[in-house]
Amino acid sequence: MGEHNVPVMPAPAPPLIDRHTHLEGGLDPAWVRRESGRRGLALPATLEALWSGRSLPFEGFIEAFLFGAALLDSREAVREAVLAVAHRTLAGGGTGFDLWTSPHFLVVHRGQLSLGDFWDGVAAGLSEAEALGLRGCVVVDAVNHFGPKHGHAVLDLILPALPPFVRGFSTGGLEGCPFRDWAPVFNRARAAGLRIAAHAGENGPGTNVREAVLDGGVSRIVHGIRADEATLELLAERRIPVDICPSSNRALAAEVDPHPLPRMLRAGVRCALGTDDPGVIPCDLETEARAARHMGLDEAAMARLRRNGAEDAWCLSD
Ligand SMILES: [Zn+2]
Repeated sequence: MGEHNVPVMPAPAPPLIDRHTHLEGGLDPAWVRRESGRRGLALPATLEALWSGRSLPFEGFIEAFLFGAALLDSREAVREAVLAVAHRTLAGGGTGFDLWTSPHFLVVHRGQLSLGDFWDGVAAGLSEAEALGLRGCVVVDAVNHFGPKHGHAVLDLILPALPPFVRGFSTGGLEGCPFRDWAPVFNRARAAGLRIAAHAGENGPGTNVREAVLDGGVSRIVHGIRADEATLELLAERRIPVDICPSSNRALAAEVDPHPLPRMLRAGVRCALGTDDPGVIPCDLETEARAARHMGLDEAAMARLRRNGAEDAWCLSD
């Protein structure tokens, strides 16, 4: 058979990656009910509200998020939490995840387990996830509104014995502190071999997205949904990946409507989908893809999201 007669096979679809999910926000709701019952804790009304699909201001979300985080007080609980992320990723058809987590909150602020037990639990969960065919890595999240002093404390905690699965450092929480003040923290993390991301333009103004890139030097944006057209141009030009989480945005940034994802893709921004806090705001990769389709994205745009998701994933990089 001549070369010209070889049938052209369609290129295989790239791996489907959950590009942004939090350990503390990814707990299995059944596990949360069981563990809180065992400890005699009442579930906060904010958590019940979010589970039932209601929108809340960001502060209400933080209460629900912290309630789950408080249950992560042993190696075993942390392992369970990683497995909840793994099983949800599989259920949504995914094969990998970039997992944000806040060890400083659990180990130092709450003092509810040791750093060693925390990393042991993460390592055990990731190795079981790998046996299920999943790739996962960790991005350590610092709290933006606690400021750069807190950021340095997070690095003081993790840098002396950084596990190999930690690939990045990020800020999250309320966007209360200017990114230029975070630049020295980001520089220190980068010098230690970590990549830098920031939640920006989520609960703060769109100008935060531009500042995170230009003043903070971050190489990845989480959400970015309030960015203006000029900022989208900047993100496209610099090929900055942006993690988009439609269910989370609908619950916590309902006023950003219509969702800017189609506009961001048209501007050439390298967007990809993630689930953010699916244990608090129920969703998985399938619901997020459906939400993106409902925004009017065609098959080519959906394929681009998936391709970006794999090409820019930190869990697939060395
Ligand atoms: Zn997030």
